[in-house]
Amino acid sequence: MKVKDFMTKDPVTVNTKERAEKVIDMMGSKNIGSVIVVDKNFRAVDIITERDIIKMLVAGYIDMPIGKILKLFSDKKSLITIEENENILKTMKIFSQMGIKHLPVVDENRNLKGIISAGDIIRKVSPLAFFDPLTNVGNRNYLSSICMKIQKRDNIKYAVLFLDIDNFKRVNDQYGHQFGDKVLKKIAAVLVDNIRVTDEVIRYGGEEFLIILFRLELDKAEKIAEKLRKIIKKISFEEHPELKITVSIGVALCCTKKECIDLDNCIEKADIAVYEAKKQGKDRVVLWREKTGLKQNTA
Ligand code: GH3
Ligand code: MG
Ligand code: MG
Repeated sequence: MKVKDFMTKDPVTVNTKERAEKVIDMMGSKNIGSVIVVDKNFRAVDIITERDIIKMLVAGYIDMPIGKILKLFSDKKSLITIEENENILKTMKIFSQMGIKHLPVVDENRNLKGIISAGDIIRKVSPLAFFDPLTNVGNRNYLSSICMKIQKRDNIKYAVLFLDIDNFKRVNDQYGHQFGDKVLKKIAAVLVDNIRVTDEVIRYGGEEFLIILFRLELDKAEKIAEKLRKIIKKISFEEHPELKITVSIGVALCCTKKECIDLDNCIEKADIAVYEAKKQGKDRVVLWREKTGLKQNTA
C-alpha cells in the first residue's frame, strides 16, 4: 500500500503570481479542497487549502498574488510533502499527528507527482487491508498501525510473543495444504480467545504469529506464553485425532522507554528467542535474554 496507489494524479496547481480571486474560483468550480503552489520548475512550494481561502476572504486579500499572501500568513508552516513510494501508513500518521488533510506527493527529485488527501485514503483503503483473510487476525499493515500507536503513547510497556508452529511443513505434506489452512485458522482463533481484548494477535508470516501483550506484569508474559503453548498442544482435530500441534514461542519484554519505542527491535529479540527454542528441541517457550541475543552469538 504505497502513496502512489491512493494519490490523485495531475493535481491542480497555481503559480505564485496567480491572484487569489482566480484560485478561489478554481477551487469552487472544480470542487477541490486544495491547490498546490508550484515554482517555475514545477516543484511544490506551498499548498492552499479551504482554510487558507477563508482567511484570504476574511482579510480581503482577493486581488493580491498568491505568493505575497502566503508571505503575509505568518502562521503557515513550511511545506510538508510525501514521496510517492512511501507507505500509506506514514501518510496517515502525518495526517493524524499534524492535523492536516492534504499532502503534495513528490518523486525522489521532489518533482510534483500528485496530491493525496484524507478523503482519497478513506475512499480507497479497505479495512480488510489490515487483516489476514485466512485467519482474520491482523496482518503486517495492522502491525505498522500498532507500531504508530506505541510510538505515540509515552512509556507503554508490553511483551512480544513470537510463535512459530513446529514442523508445519510436515503437516501440509502429510494432510494436505487445505487441512494446513484449517490448522492455521484454528490456532489463530485459539490465540484470540485466550488473550485479553486489548492485546493483539498478528499473522506475521506463513505459520508465524505475534502476540503483543500490553499493560501486564512482565514476568507474567512467560507464563501466558506457556499457557498458550499448552492450550495449542491440546487442540484435537476431528479428521486427524492422532495429530498434535506443537509450537515454539520466543518472548521479549519491553520495559524501558527506549526499548518500548522500538517495536521492531522487540520483535527481533522475540525472533531470536524462538530460534533458540527451535534449537533446544521445539515445543517450548524461551525468554530473550542478553545471552540468547545476537550480541553473544556473533561475538
Ligand atoms: P520449524 O519447526 O522449524 O518451524 O519447521 P516448519 O516446517 O514449521 O517450518 P518451515 O519454515 O520449513 O515451513 C513452514 C511451512 O508453512 C511451509 C509452508 O508451506 C507452510 N505455510 C506457510 N503459509 C501457509 C498457509 O497459508 N497455508 C498452509 N497450509 N501452509 C502454509
Ligand atoms: Mg517459520
Ligand atoms: Mg514453523
